[in-house]
Amino acid sequence: MPSVMWFRRDLRLSDNPALLEAVADGDVLPLFVLDPALWGPAGPSRRAYLAASLRALDASLRERGGRLSVVRGDPVRRVVLAAREVGAERVHVAADTGPYGRARDERVAAALADTGVELVRTGSAYAVGPGRVLNGSGEPYRVFTPFSKAWIDHGWHAPADPPGDVDWRALAETTEIPDPDLPAGLELPEAGEAAAARRWAEFLDDGVADYDEARNLPGVDGTSRMSVHLKYGEIHPRTLLADLARLRSKGAATYRLELGWREFYADVLAARPETAREYLRPEYARMAYDEPGEQLEAWQQGRTGFPIVDAGMRQLRSVGWVHNRVRMIVASFLVKDLHLEWQLGARHFMHWLVDGDLASNQHGWQWTAGSGTDASPFFRVFNPTSQGRRFDPHGEYVRRWVPELADPERVPDPHEPDRDTRDLVGYPAPIVDHAEERREALARWERIRR
Ligand SMILES: Cc1cc2nc3c(=O)[nH]c(=O)nc-3n(C[C@H](O)[C@H](O)[C@H](O)COP(=O)(O)OP(=O)(O)OC[C@H]3O[C@@H](n4cnc5c(N)ncnc54)[C@H](O)[C@@H]3O)c2cc1C
Repeated sequence: MPSVMWFRRDLRLSDNPALLEAVADGDVLPLFVLDPALWGPAGPSRRAYLAASLRALDASLRERGGRLSVVRGDPVRRVVLAAREVGAERVHVAADTGPYGRARDERVAAALADTGVELVRTGSAYAVGPGRVLNGSGEPYRVFTPFSKAWIDHGWHAPADPPGDVDWRALAETTEIPDPDLPAGLELPEAGEAAAARRWAEFLDDGVADYDEARNLPGVDGTSRMSVHLKYGEIHPRTLLADLARLRSKGAATYRLELGWREFYADVLAARPETAREYLRPEYARMAYDEPGEQLEAWQQGRTGFPIVDAGMRQLRSVGWVHNRVRMIVASFLVKDLHLEWQLGARHFMHWLVDGDLASNQHGWQWTAGSGTDASPFFRVFNPTSQGRRFDPHGEYVRRWVPELADPERVPDPHEPDRDTRDLVGYPAPIVDHAEERREALARWERIRR
């Protein structure tokens, strides 16, 4: 019996439980639907990356005698038509627990059921499917540390083997995989399952052992850069977890916990889908915020006059990725120095990030803004200058992304250039006085605590 394998955020052939289920049914139609509701808001980096990843998946299928059928339009109509064309009785997917994906899948399942076809969900983009880790009272966790313990105790399956020989089907009429133009200067990592496996092997060889110390230093290439591969499911987290389990280093243990954060935020978003837009802690909606204006633009363009903030915001636009420490610094600056709502920053991030992921992004923002899970107390306000000095002590990161500050002879102190130096190299004066804005942020916060 033919079936459909509808790929979404699982663009790989290895260790793909939904694909194995499809293969167990018989002939398989590998399908991807370009959904305008997702393609539109994706932003230039994610559109280009997704297209490259689809080309890589198509190439892997062709090596195995198949090809990826790509169609454009509303998935409800497109998936039903595809199933009908090949005479499938089942459409296989990995479960999507995000707010849009879940609603879309319910609509698709209902439309398929009307034609006698079943939507079968097998596995997800996570080692443990969101919603499965529950506390003693059967509720989802709200705080990371107990979640992470229960998540590890829950455990996960070992990676599965790739499918053997498959009889592939294809649709008669398909759309070309798009080839969107990248904005000038934007550089993206190589996409696809093979690229993900290579990057992971490199990190296992020469990154993971030092990860525990190096991961906080944005000037050092000390993190795995796996976020984009995980986002598109070019590799499954349980593959990473299985490799980490063979290592004894502190770095491997820390890395496992970082994957735990990704799973935690997906779990929180599945339990509280409204937090993609609304404050997880509702009292923060009552805080006084400023209207967005020129300061938001300066932040977006990396012209705030605070070197580490500007370096991060320029890195975002150049490579669609920002170091985690710097994501926290720039987010804190937007919320606590400029007094703007986190959603404005989260939206800008989602536009530019190639690894832009609703759960990790919105909850990374909410955490930094103080309104999210866990205790990131609002009163702990990052000082961008001292954060820069501490985590980029030799100024490599700032000099790399802010070319005005690159020359050590002209700019001896890249974290706090004096006024004459700024004038000389054309770097802006700070747009705010951090000490003053810190006081202002705390005063606003005091008002919602009463
Ligand atoms: C404001 C803000 C926005 C963020 N937006 C995103 C986003 O859109 N997409 C995204 O994948 N991550 C996001 N993060 C989390 C983190 O910054 C990135 O996952 C990380 O920088 C990716 O680089 P890496 O793969 O080299 O990370 P590594 O340090 O190598 O970490 C390994 C993996 O662990 C996971 N991870 C690590 N830290 C976190 C974290 N704090 N939260 C969730 N998962 C984590 C990621 O999957 C990452 O690939 C955000 C963090 C903040 C503070």
